Amino acid sequence: MVISVVGHSNPDTDSVISAIGLAALLTAQGQEAQACMQSNLADLNPESKVVLEKFGLEAPQEMSDAAGKDVALVDFSDLAQGPANLADANVVAVVDHHKIGDLTTNSPILFRAEPVGCSATVLNTMFKEAGIAIPEKVAGGMLAAILSDTVNFKSPTCTETDKIAVGELKTIAGVDDTDALFMDMLKAKSAVAGVPSKDLLFRDYKDFDMKGNKVGVGQLELAALDQVAEIRKDLVQAMAEVKADGRHSVLLMLTDVVKEGTDLVVISDDPAMIEKAFGGKLENSAMWIDGMMSRKKQTVPNLQKAFGC
Ligand code: MG
Ligand code: MG
Ligand code: MG
Repeated sequence: MVISVVGHSNPDTDSVISAIGLAALLTAQGQEAQACMQSNLADLNPESKVVLEKFGLEAPQEMSDAAGKDVALVDFSDLAQGPANLADANVVAVVDHHKIGDLTTNSPILFRAEPVGCSATVLNTMFKEAGIAIPEKVAGGMLAAILSDTVNFKSPTCTETDKIAVGELKTIAGVDDTDALFMDMLKAKSAVAGVPSKDLLFRDYKDFDMKGNKVGVGQLELAALDQVAEIRKDLVQAMAEVKADGRHSVLLMLTDVVKEGTDLVVISDDPAMIEKAFGGKLENSAMWIDGMMSRKKQTVPNLQKAFGC
């Protein structure tokens, strides 16, 4: 059976590109594999669209149901972030860089998770270990995924291994200026004109279970905060609507990639607890947190601690 390689829901560039990368690696190793994503191309986030176009990569196939399929997961191992019926699929491999999720399997599988900044960095290592050359286009995509996940090396999740991988991949892909590539991606991902507020909130959004409380955290990476000044009210309104749908809290990280900090917008049943979690004071439902860049390394751990997870 063909292995469907798929990243998390609300796919970001890493989960789209790493699906392409792992499918390419498995195929080169003589397995039948197909890159998939939990989105159709029209709804895919604008940054990933730019990356696919720029490097001439074919968009992964849409996958919404995993029942009965052979699947390989990239960039997640939480059932909640997978396609429907993932628990009834045959998971054959996981390649990730997050904390290990709640997936379980009946037989031993290839499980490769490393504490690096991007799944594509793990894949780069796997290609090298296998002695398989990364196709030029795929290398370009992987390079872009690492720049995206590490916010051009500024995120605290970025490691030396990520930087080395970028150095290797840019040579294969023939990319000279990675800063220029990152700025093109940032321009695409931070474009807000004409986009409904709820779509912006969900552009890079994850729900978490915090001791039985559903907590949503979205992030918009911006070149400057004033990009969202005019739509701020609408964003807060969209957050309130999403929170009303059974959530304890909804947080939106408006991350200023240049200033290297986040304006954290909070709609919560317990704002005082969120303030305490981040050592700040909410004004108009928001607080500036210097140095906050990463949902995974900064926002979520502080929340988990506050909720007593
Ligand atoms: Mg991801
Ligand atoms: Mg990732
Ligand atoms: Mg991300």
